[in-house]
Amino acid sequence: MSPEQEAVYQAALEFARRELEPVAEAMDQDDQLPRAAWEQAAQLGYLGAGIPEADGGRGGDLASAALIGRALSRVSPAFALSYGAHVNLCAHNIWLSGSEAQRQRYLPELSSGAAVGALALTEPEAGSDATAITTQARRAASGGYVLTGSKTFITNAPIADLWVVYAKTNPEAGKHGITAFIVERGWPGVSTGPAFAKLGMRGSPTGEVFFDGVPVPAANRLGEENQGVVVMMRGLDRERAFYALSGVGIAEEALDRALGYAQRRRQFGRPLMEFELVAAKLADMYVETRAAELLALDALQRLDAGARASREAAAALLYAGRAARHAADEAVQIYGGAGYVRGSVVERLFRDAKLFDIGAGTKEIRRLILARELSGQR
Ligand SMILES: Cc1cc2nc3c(=O)[nH]c(=O)nc-3n(C[C@H](O)[C@H](O)[C@H](O)COP(=O)(O)OP(=O)(O)OC[C@H]3O[C@@H](n4cnc5c(N)ncnc54)[C@H](O)[C@@H]3O)c2cc1C
Repeated sequence: MSPEQEAVYQAALEFARRELEPVAEAMDQDDQLPRAAWEQAAQLGYLGAGIPEADGGRGGDLASAALIGRALSRVSPAFALSYGAHVNLCAHNIWLSGSEAQRQRYLPELSSGAAVGALALTEPEAGSDATAITTQARRAASGGYVLTGSKTFITNAPIADLWVVYAKTNPEAGKHGITAFIVERGWPGVSTGPAFAKLGMRGSPTGEVFFDGVPVPAANRLGEENQGVVVMMRGLDRERAFYALSGVGIAEEALDRALGYAQRRRQFGRPLMEFELVAAKLADMYVETRAAELLALDALQRLDAGARASREAAAALLYAGRAARHAADEAVQIYGGAGYVRGSVVERLFRDAKLFDIGAGTKEIRRLILARELSGQR
């Protein structure tokens, strides 16, 4: 981390400890995003992180925005997930692929928190096979499009004001017939379902979005027609690198808490830390957390330098997911019974960590991307 990035991270961690820690447990219990903390995050500029100030954002690079996510994730991975869907999946994609008019129209309201953002790619029959989506955008006589279909598992969907949506504009052309759009909640034919009850990441609302003959102006097409895969792939690399650092946040919080507990808790007349079987777990957790951090920062640095980083981003998220899950699992183990009860932070981290094996392309899909990259295919 550069000194500036370190400062961004430390400030975000202070915010998370002060504003999120008191509500993180209730967020998990009640399954509600704490709006007051969300608004405070907006006031601090976090909801426009990584967007240039000229476009209404807070400035900073992708790595800094991801470091804010890492800090939030230490305290509430669910809050960090919603933050990421808003800032990275929605705002960054509009900034990366949007026209000047789209940037001016949407980025200030996303950055100020006046609008909540999301990205809708996944469908009931198209998850890992993302280019098999069937949501359709047909050309209308007006010159715009008519959008029909549904999306599922969409982070922030129940509370979102706008979505980056992928749809087929030429279904016969497969992945070369996909186009991205920016769609607003208030438009006729747009509706959302209730938030799903989930294993973890509770309080980050996930749900369905329905498009029933929604008229979409041509001005809301994001990028060129039938070039949606370019928007998607560019965004997915950044999403994987971004969320890798959120996984790191879980791993380091699990490590810190487990270390503290191993030093405090005594059995057989000695602190747990003096048992080598326990100490070895902490040593492994440290190595995996640090390795995940370096992989993630490497991918982010490449992306911020304008380089292609599909391989590095897939590797970073693959490893960070594993590090987060393993660290949370070992933390529960070190806490023993105290780690298995509701209300213990490591128990919540354990449930939350599992998402990092599934979201932004499952761990299997990340391996497939890596294998393809390694064999020189693109
Ligand atoms: C909490 C949460 C938030 C999410 N947020 C968003 C969001 O904001 N926007 C969005 O668009 N989507 C979102 N998703 C969806 C997520 O991206 C998908 O769940 C994910 O891509 C997997 O798709 P699927 O669930 O349909 O599983 P499937 O694709 O049905 O996969 C099921 C299993 O089969 C495996 N599999 C599939 N194909 C292969 C293969 N070729 N080789 C080996 N194994 C394979 C998978 O790895 C997985 O283990 C979210 C999901 C969750 C749970």
